[in-house]
Amino acid sequence: MKKIAVLTSGGDSPGMNAAVRAVVRKGIYEGVEVHGVYQGYQGLVNDNIKKLELGDVGDIIQRGGTKLYSARCPEFIEPDVRKKAIANLQKRGIDSLVVIGGDGSYRGAQRLNEEGIKTVGVPGTIDNDINGTDYTIGFDTALNTIVDAVDRIRDTATSHERTFIVEVMGRDAGDLALWAGVAGGAETILIPESHSDIKEVAERIETGMKRGKKHSIIIVAEGVMTAAQCGEELRKYINIDTRESVLGHMQRGGKPTGSDRVLASRLGAYAVELLLNDVHGHAVGIEDNRLTRTSFDRVFEESHRIDEGLFRLSKELSI
Ligand code: ATP
Repeated sequence: MKKIAVLTSGGDSPGMNAAVRAVVRKGIYEGVEVHGVYQGYQGLVNDNIKKLELGDVGDIIQRGGTKLYSARCPEFIEPDVRKKAIANLQKRGIDSLVVIGGDGSYRGAQRLNEEGIKTVGVPGTIDNDINGTDYTIGFDTALNTIVDAVDRIRDTATSHERTFIVEVMGRDAGDLALWAGVAGGAETILIPESHSDIKEVAERIETGMKRGKKHSIIIVAEGVMTAAQCGEELRKYINIDTRESVLGHMQRGGKPTGSDRVLASRLGAYAVELLLNDVHGHAVGIEDNRLTRTSFDRVFEESHRIDEGLFRLSKELSI
């Protein structure tokens, strides 16, 4: 009987559980034995692996976080450490692995694939920063969490006639900031992919104030600067009283949206399908609403790009 394993790695994202469920159920449906690795690559090294049954993934499709737990395992870059992990799989007769995580997790998956474990990646991260897929699992949920927070902040911004600066996650990728900014009607969106001229932002706020605009919302991705720094920078150019709000880890949690659950179910099952067809060394994704696969090499070929059209639109709509 074919045996595969599944793990979640890197930052948790809403929908990881739905993906694990899909891998386990699709596997069992196809007559495969599925094993769960707890605590990501750390659990693979520590031999924290258990066979999963249908019931083990019951009642988790609606839960945020990951039932398999996630961990960072920096030593996984060492070949000797990976050898231990591979031995733990091989002694159980497991030759295939589904890795649900972000691009760091994919790098570990690529190594394992080169070293004898047939591996497929499933994009689980709120950042939406992985090539080879239009959307990552968790992005839609995190986006809606941020939009909900921005709507609430807007109530206060309007009532107190103030500028609010909202700091959102995104060290290298501005997708969350951009989409939340468009959906939340933010006046300014600062993302790492585009140089931000704070003087120009200040001038625009000032022009708005002169024509009677009393409040505004700025969304800043953490990779650009902190909300506090943004406030300080603005005050170099205009006399303005700002309030800052750092959304922090609340963006990563919560129950997954329907879209994320469907995406996770499709991608998890597709990953199993690929392994059953002996296709590995690839990441699965969704492009133009079609399931696609991209080799890890191609995923890493270029850095993630922002949707320039959407960024332009955000500027056009916030004049
Ligand atoms: P997120 O984008 O949500 O942070 P991620 O998957 O990118 O998720 P990372 O912390 O970058 O999160 O990576 C997760 C794990 O993948 C690391 O802790 C490490 O175990 C493994 N990993 C990362 N880079 C490599 C690499 N070059 N070689 C082997 N393993 C790696």
